[in-house]
Amino acid sequence: MGSTSRGGFFGAISQLFKEENTAIRPPYAVADTTFEECKSCTALCVNVCEEKIIRTDSMGVPFLDFSANGCSDCHKCLEACIPNVLNDPQRFIGAKARISTLSCMSHHNTICFSCKEPCMDNAIVFEGMFRPIIIPDKCTGCGYCISVCPSSAITISA
Ligand code: SF4
Ligand code: SF4
Ligand code: SF4
Repeated sequence: MGSTSRGGFFGAISQLFKEENTAIRPPYAVADTTFEECKSCTALCVNVCEEKIIRTDSMGVPFLDFSANGCSDCHKCLEACIPNVLNDPQRFIGAKARISTLSCMSHHNTICFSCKEPCMDNAIVFEGMFRPIIIPDKCTGCGYCISVCPSSAITISA
């Protein structure tokens, strides 16, 4: 194997590893699922998602893409998942959002409340008019705050 193909092989493995470790999986996933069934499923959840936020990775495993929208907790993916990977209505998205104080305009004295309005769980609190933070215990990981931030200061991780 030449160095180029070796680089390609290790690059692909590294990409897969990265996908698996950073991906936010859909809500309602049953405890301890490995999402193995998803690899041979026609991604039923992707087609029914009313917010169009479910995508599949290179192995066919679904993840959430919050770049344009958030999860409305509509249960459509749960109802569509015939293999019952998504089958626990009590388990929502296993992720929490965070605000980067370096990137957030409000942490640099510019008035901005863009993230506050879509947060139905009141997880984002401001110190007066400035310096918002996200209360982890209140954040459901719904993702609606991500795309509305004009300075891309909010990230979400599992
Ligand atoms: S419908 Fe269920 S089994 Fe199919 S890809 Fe989605 S989560 Fe996986
Ligand atoms: S609950 Fe609804 S909006 Fe959320 S991922 Fe499932 S289908 Fe999409
Ligand atoms: S992910 Fe949802 S609950 Fe968490 S801070 Fe953002 S909008 Fe609020």
